[in-house]
Amino acid sequence: MSESAVIHDSLKLPCPSCGSQLLYSAKFKQLRCTHCGYSEEIDKSNDKVVEQSLKDAASQAVNFVPEALGKKVFDCQNCGSKFMVESDKLKVKCGFCGSTNVNLEAYQHQYIQPIGIIPFYVSRDEAETLFSDWIKKGWFHPNKLKKLAALEDLHGIYIPCWTFDAQTESDWQGEAGYYYTETVRVRVNGQMQTQQVQKVRWQWRSGHLSHFFDDILVVASTGLKQRELEWVLPFRLEETVNFDPRLMLGWESEIYGIEIDKGYQIGEGIMENKIRQMCSAQLGGDTQRNLAVSSQIFSQTFKHVVLPIWICSYQYQGKVFHFTINGQTGKVNGEKPLSWIKIAILVLLFALLIFGIYMLRQSGVLQ
Ligand SMILES: [Zn+2]
Ligand SMILES: [Zn+2]
Repeated sequence: MSESAVIHDSLKLPCPSCGSQLLYSAKFKQLRCTHCGYSEEIDKSNDKVVEQSLKDAASQAVNFVPEALGKKVFDCQNCGSKFMVESDKLKVKCGFCGSTNVNLEAYQHQYIQPIGIIPFYVSRDEAETLFSDWIKKGWFHPNKLKKLAALEDLHGIYIPCWTFDAQTESDWQGEAGYYYTETVRVRVNGQMQTQQVQKVRWQWRSGHLSHFFDDILVVASTGLKQRELEWVLPFRLEETVNFDPRLMLGWESEIYGIEIDKGYQIGEGIMENKIRQMCSAQLGGDTQRNLAVSSQIFSQTFKHVVLPIWICSYQYQGKVFHFTINGQTGKVNGEKPLSWIKIAILVLLFALLIFGIYMLRQSGVLQ
């Protein structure tokens, strides 16, 4: 087995100065000793973050030994996520669904190792501030939410992702429609009148689109949904560094639950949607019909990377809401419950305003 094929036997990293534990600190962007403050710079090299052929994906899989990272794999009985935590963590709670019904899983698995990682730059303190600022914004959200700012359920998790590159060649054909108006004479109640009628002139067209897709990002997580990642895009993927498990010291991380072939299908779906949009733009017109696109996708490559995400899930009136924070850029987004009382008050105020204007008009104050 080549050196790069196994996750390094870093185990827990003792501090060379005092023997205590080194952890990765997002605040200092360094490996730091929590006891004496000893610090080590992280390696910013990215020479190993290279595209790998999708055809050879199967041969990339190796046996995965989480203990080598000083971590244990937990399996959530509620949502099915598999995530790694520090092995001495006593009480484990699923970061995705909040369930405490998680079991230690003996993890024997063929696994494609990440080649790249974006380290956490947003610390827990910063994440809490970003989050509570965001939750307070907006008029429609219940007051109780503002008090939820004490966020015990905020988890910083390294999320597994696939990125895909591909060259695509597409032939398209369709009809572009252009609006014009015609004046027609019609009989209305026995009287002849002229009317403007909108018509469409159709024009058949065809063409070719050549497009290279770079880094189509697909979540390989079972716990985090694709749209929950898309809420907080983009990442500065060009800052991805060589995968180094030391950057995970003190952090949770998830193991991919969406295999490479399934991930690629999702990626291909994303590409096909974008191709259709681009072909539609080439076809042009005010409106369109019968757009048919036939594409060839080839030279597919992939990278397996892990990305830093702060997630929070909490229950409000029996419903689970999810939020995410981009652990690199600090972008926050997610679901907020609406307050029906506040909406009802707004609707009522609006109705009163309309009624007031109407009354003023009636009384001749407003013309
Ligand atoms: Zn130390
Ligand atoms: Zn769960």
